[in-house]
Amino acid sequence: MELNEKNVLDLSSFRMITDVNSKGNKLILEINKNYECEVEIPYNVDIEDEMIIINEHPLKVENIKRGILNLISLSISQNLVNKVTNRRTYYIVPPIPLIGHTAFGLIDRGTNIIQVRGLSGCNINCPFCSVDEGKYSKTRKNDYYVDVDYLVEEYKKIAEFKGNKFIEAHLDGQGEPTLYYPLADLVQNLSEINKDGRGIVSIQSNGVGLTYKMIDELEEAGLHRINLSINALDEKMAKILAGRKDYNIEKILDIAEYIKNSKIHLLIAPILLPNVNDEEFKKVIDYAIQLDQRIPQNVLNPITNKKDPILGVQLCLIYQFGRRVKKMKIWEFKKFYKLLKDYEAQYKAKGIDVKLKLHPSDFGTHRRKKLPCPFKVGESINVDVIMDGRIRGEVIGVSQNRIVQIINCKNEDRLIGNNIRVRILRTKDNIIVSTPTQ
Ligand code: SF4
Repeated sequence: MELNEKNVLDLSSFRMITDVNSKGNKLILEINKNYECEVEIPYNVDIEDEMIIINEHPLKVENIKRGILNLISLSISQNLVNKVTNRRTYYIVPPIPLIGHTAFGLIDRGTNIIQVRGLSGCNINCPFCSVDEGKYSKTRKNDYYVDVDYLVEEYKKIAEFKGNKFIEAHLDGQGEPTLYYPLADLVQNLSEINKDGRGIVSIQSNGVGLTYKMIDELEEAGLHRINLSINALDEKMAKILAGRKDYNIEKILDIAEYIKNSKIHLLIAPILLPNVNDEEFKKVIDYAIQLDQRIPQNVLNPITNKKDPILGVQLCLIYQFGRRVKKMKIWEFKKFYKLLKDYEAQYKAKGIDVKLKLHPSDFGTHRRKKLPCPFKVGESINVDVIMDGRIRGEVIGVSQNRIVQIINCKNEDRLIGNNIRVRILRTKDNIIVSTPTQ
């Protein structure tokens, strides 16, 4: 059949479709870089790269195009797979609320920070991961991805509710935030919203997927800070702590240096696993201090009018659904702070001023109006169960513009699509957890 605009469906015009492959009449679509779904086309078509050529009577072509687009949209909503974790992924669009869950959406904990979680799923497998993330997770069964326009739209509502002044959009989550695509667009849109109120956009990253090009784009998009996790400098220990044989610490250090030479503030965030990486933890601190001396940055945080710290050290804790390194000793914060104080004193003796024990005010974090929560702990409510949960025994419901996690479920599949009665167990920070009443 002759090729003309009318009998061709060009998939390259859809932003979320980032690559197209085919096997006969089966389309294999890459969605937002890290996801994939397959669609069987039940019409007489030829597929050439991103073009679907429809070999049917011209009068039927428009209907067939609509039919194909419906099949694609159905497949995205039902059969999307995260290529990084191999898990089923729910593509979150309106009217699914974005408040209520820690795996995706937006979190307001009553400060000037709004946590932005565009996706779940991680590209590495740290053996101490507090959310048991990565390909080999034993507890996570589904991933979530939030449509970029919807995420920005809902973010804007919360920023405005909070007075849109000195707001920080912080991209973090149960996974690696830089896997989000289109990341630069997301950052740029959030940055546009925050800019007038002298707010910022910041992101956490393990650095594995970062490239020079991405950093250039994020700088252009107005990103203020990258909190980069580096937990060891020794090659072997770094690989062990990332849970990946191909983790390349040299590459991460190179990326750190590249960020240091950009307008994005670099914060290095090592985590101490007592009795596991004690020496390496100290080496990362030394490295960060030397890097800061060698390449000082002059990026001011508009919220504080000061430079952010170069280091954001953390202590590894144990979580209910997290992973744990057997050899690790559990420390109290008191002991950790004592260690930090000793390190600070050692640097001071060498004439170097470094602050390791930070206060939220070092980043300009302060209390702000909090979104109201429509539920009370102990209350029984009805919820529409709309999708499967993040871990076994959980499904996800919706009520009063909130996501409601429903735990302790049996036969999750049978609950989806039903309206059930649940008792609210938690409402803190508008993270809503409930349990079925019977
Ligand atoms: S980078 Fe973070 S989310 Fe990913 S496995 Fe490590 S600790 Fe977990």
